[in-house]
Amino acid sequence: MPEFCDVALPVPLDMAFTYRVPADATPVVGARVLVPFRQQRMTGVVVELHDRKPAVTIKSVLSVLDVAPVFDDPLLRLGRWIADYYLAPLGEVFRTMLPLNAEFKRGTAYRITAEGQMALHLAGMSGSSARSQRTPEEQAAEFRVLDYLAAQEPAPGETIQVREETLRSSTRVSKVVLTGMVRKKWLVREDISAVRDATRTVKIALLKSAAGKLNENQRKLIETLAASGGQVPLDTLQALEVPRTTLSTLVKRGLIEVMEEPAVFTISSSKPRPSRLELDFNLAQQAALNRLREAVEMRKFSGILLHGVTGSGKTAVYLAGMRAVLEAGRSAILLVPEIGLTPAVAADLHQIFGDEVAILHSALSDKERAQQWRRIKSGEARIVVGTRSAVFAPVADLALIIVDEEHDSSYKQEETPRYHARDIAVMRAKMADAVVVLGSATPSLESYFNAKKNKYVLVELPDRVEQRPLPEVEIIDMRQEFQETGHEQVISRKLAAEIKERFDRNEQVMVLLNRRGYSPLVLCRTCGKTLECQNCAIALTHHKREHKMVCHYCGYTAPVPKACVHCGSEYVYFLGTGSEKLEELLHGMFPQARVARLDRDTVRGHEDFERTLNALSDGELDLVVGTQMIAKGHDIHGVTLVGVVGADSALGMPDFRAAERTFQLLTQVAGRAGRGQIPGKVILQTYFQDHYAVQYTAHHDFAGFYEKELRFRSWMHYPPYSALANVLVRSNQLDQALQWSGTIGKWFEQTRHEGVRVLGPATAPIMRLKRDYRYHFVLKSPSREKLNATLRAMLDYAARQKIPRTQVIVDVDALWLM
Ligand SMILES: [Zn+2]
Ligand SMILES: [Zn+2]
Repeated sequence: MPEFCDVALPVPLDMAFTYRVPADATPVVGARVLVPFRQQRMTGVVVELHDRKPAVTIKSVLSVLDVAPVFDDPLLRLGRWIADYYLAPLGEVFRTMLPLNAEFKRGTAYRITAEGQMALHLAGMSGSSARSQRTPEEQAAEFRVLDYLAAQEPAPGETIQVREETLRSSTRVSKVVLTGMVRKKWLVREDISAVRDATRTVKIALLKSAAGKLNENQRKLIETLAASGGQVPLDTLQALEVPRTTLSTLVKRGLIEVMEEPAVFTISSSKPRPSRLELDFNLAQQAALNRLREAVEMRKFSGILLHGVTGSGKTAVYLAGMRAVLEAGRSAILLVPEIGLTPAVAADLHQIFGDEVAILHSALSDKERAQQWRRIKSGEARIVVGTRSAVFAPVADLALIIVDEEHDSSYKQEETPRYHARDIAVMRAKMADAVVVLGSATPSLESYFNAKKNKYVLVELPDRVEQRPLPEVEIIDMRQEFQETGHEQVISRKLAAEIKERFDRNEQVMVLLNRRGYSPLVLCRTCGKTLECQNCAIALTHHKREHKMVCHYCGYTAPVPKACVHCGSEYVYFLGTGSEKLEELLHGMFPQARVARLDRDTVRGHEDFERTLNALSDGELDLVVGTQMIAKGHDIHGVTLVGVVGADSALGMPDFRAAERTFQLLTQVAGRAGRGQIPGKVILQTYFQDHYAVQYTAHHDFAGFYEKELRFRSWMHYPPYSALANVLVRSNQLDQALQWSGTIGKWFEQTRHEGVRVLGPATAPIMRLKRDYRYHFVLKSPSREKLNATLRAMLDYAARQKIPRTQVIVDVDALWLM
C-alpha cells in the first residue's frame, strides 16, 4: 500500500504537493482529496501514489472525496498537456476542467456595517485620519474595501453581501486586512452555505396595489408593471429611467412586492421550428456528411475543416453527423460560441436527441452544471453541446468533436489556464483516435493554414442552401460622403435611402455598429483632456439612458460630467457614436419604424437575445441595430438589407489580427442578409475603402483574403508561421511594474535562447487596466518547444526574484496583445 500521494492543488504554483495517505482509505489517481494547505482546507486531484518519503515533514490527507477517479486516464493526460502547453499550474487546469465546485464550496462573505459606512465617510474628509497608526497602504486598502462594499447597490430588502473571493480580487487586499476590519466592527463576516448557490434565482416585482397618490416616477413603475400583467423581472424596472429610491419607496408603501423565484433556462416557447434534419441535403452537404461519417468509422484521428459560406447549412451536417455517432452507440461533443446557445437551439437539440443530450450553457448554476457532468460521466447523456469548457466533458468512447464557428474568440479563455477550446478539441480528438470537425464561413488563419498543409481535410460548402445568392455588397467611401455633404455622417445618404426602400416593401434591416453606449468620448475643449477611468487608461463611455459614464474594461462608473473634471470648464463635448446613439438616430430618421437594439446593455441573458430575434423573425420589428452580437449565426429570412456603420475601426488598431477580425466580422454580418426568398444587399460604410479586408469581403473572396493575409503573416513571422506568446507584467504600483519588467527584460537580454525573438519590455497598448500598470513582451519562435522552454526558464527566474506568479501572465497563442 503506497504511503504518500502527490496532489495537484488550484494554486498559482507549478508543482504537486505530497501528503501522507490516510490509514483508512487509499485514494486512487484521478480522484479528489481534501487536504490542509497553509491555513486552509483545499480540494485537489491525486496525480501519483508512491513510497518516496519526502525530506520535509508532511501532513496527511483529511479525506478522500471520490471512490472512483473523476478524471480517467485520457483526461488526466489532456490536463497535463494543457498545463505544459499553456504553462499553467496543473491544479488550476484541473479546476477548470471539473465543474464540481458546487459540491464543496463553503463560502465566506462580508457586509459593511454602519460603523464601516461612518469610517468611509470620515476617510473622505481631510485630516480625519491623522491620529491613525496605520500605514498609508493599509489605509488605502481599507478604503478600497469600504468603498467597494458601499458601492454595491442592494435590491430592496437585501443586505450587501460580497463573497470573499470577489471582494479580494476586486480590491486586492489580503485576508489580514479584512480580519482587521472585522475586529474594528467595520465589516461583518458571514458564512454562506452552499445551498444559496444551488439554484439560480431571479427577482420578480409584483404589483400589489395602485392606490394612493403617485408622483411621476412612481407612476412610471406602476404603469410598467400593470402593462405587463402585474409582474416583471426586477431588472426591467431597474432599467427604467427612475431613481432607485422610487422602487424602495413603493415597496415600503406595500404597492410593490419583490420576491425571488428559481430561474429556469426555459426551453423556448416560441413556435416549433421544422427539425433541420427533415430538410433535403444538397449535394455538397451530402458529400460533407459522407466524408464525416467515413472518417468516424475509421476510428483514427482525423481533422476536417468545414468551410461553408454563410447560409450553406453547416448545422444540419453537424446534427446528422452526431446522430450517426449516437446510433453507433458512441459519443459526440458539439462546441458552440457563447452567444450561439439560445433556448431555441436547446429545444432543437432536445427534439433530435431526446434525453441523451446534455446541454452546458452559461446560465447553469454550479449545482446544475455538476448534475449535467454526472449525467455525462455515467453515460446517461452521450451527446454534449456546450460552450468552451464543454470540451472537457467526461464522455466515454468519444467519436466526434465539432467546433462550430471555430474562428470565434469566445473559445479562448482569458484567465488561467488561457486555453483555446478549438486547439484542445483537436488535441483531445488526437488522444482519443476521434474525428474533429472545425466549421466556419470564415475559418481562422491557423485552421485554414493547417488545411492547406494537409493537416486537415478541407471540405467546402460553396453555395447557400436552395441556391440562394450571396448578398451584393456596396461600399460607401465615408471620406467622399464627408466632402459632398460637408459634415460627418453616421448614416450615409445611400444607406438611409436603402433602409427607406426596405421599409416601404415591408422588409427588414440590420445595422451593425460595433461599439456600445451613447458616446465613446468626452472631451474638454478648454484643456483638451478626456474623461478617463480611475482604474484604467481608457476613456469612459457615456451611457445616456443609464445616466452614467462607464468603463467598458473594468465596469467603473462615474456621474455624467457637467463641467470638465480637470479644469472646471463648461465646454465639455460628447463625441462619437455608439449603438445607443445610433438607435436614437434611426428612431429620429424613421419615426414609424419599430427599432430594437442588441448589445451587452440590452442583452443580459440568452432569453433577451432570443426574444429580440424572435420578434424580428415574427415581423414585429423592422430594424435591429447592434454590436457584433447581431453578426452571430442566426437565420432570419425577412432581413434583406444589412448596413455596416464603422465596423472597420479595428483596422486602425495596433494588432496583427485586426485585418482577420475585420474580414470575419464583415463577412459574418453580411451573411445575415438575404437568407430567405428575396436576395440580400449589404451597404458597407468605411473610411478604409482600399483596405484588402474590406475589398475581399465585398467580393466574397475568401481564398483571396487568406492568400494575402498569409503572405503578410509570413513576412512578419506571425502565427501561423511562428508560435507566439505574450508575457504581461503587472502591478498596481508603477515602480514595481517597471522594476519587475526591467528585471525580466535584462534576463531575456543576458540569456541565450536561440531561435526565439523577444520584443520588449514595452508599455502595453492599454497601459493601465483595473488599477494595474502593465508592461509586456512578445515572444515569437518557429519552434514551439524552444518558445516554451524559454518561457519556463523565465518563470523560474521570476520566481527566484520573488516576483509573484500571478503578476507575470504568460499567454501562449494570445489572441489579443492589448
Ligand atoms: Zn478641461
Ligand atoms: Zn476601467
